[in-house]
Amino acid sequence: MPRSRCPKCWQEVGEPATGCPACGFNIQEFWNSKDYFDKFILALNHSEPNSQINAACVLGKLKDTRAVGPLINLVKNAPNDNVAKAAVKALGEIGTQEARTFLSTLVYHPAKIIRDEVMAIFAPSPLLNKKKGDSNES
Ligand SMILES: [Zn+2]
Repeated sequence: MPRSRCPKCWQEVGEPATGCPACGFNIQEFWNSKDYFDKFILALNHSEPNSQINAACVLGKLKDTRAVGPLINLVKNAPNDNVAKAAVKALGEIGTQEARTFLSTLVYHPAKIIRDEVMAIFAPSPLLNKKKGDSNES
């Protein structure tokens, strides 16, 4: 996440900035006080879709269950299907009951790339080579 933007309003602020000229947000204090998890949660609301995708990917890898709610919101409010897909993937990686319940509502999503991602999450991995009836997922 580039530090040349205000983490609150995403204005370009140049660097190193101590306060945002646009909204007055104390940028320096933010970078010093928040942990990286919070920064990535905030980045989910970034104005650039690529940054949102990046943040979703990182949060999926962190597998922190606090990311589930924000990621669900991102799927619902994504600016495009690629962003929604990244959030769906991250939810699949975190894999809490709440995440899986939400993902199960997306199987009839109008976008094919979303449906495909959801199917990939719920389908048993071919790498595991599970036998039929072996699965006790519910
Ligand atoms: Zn600002």
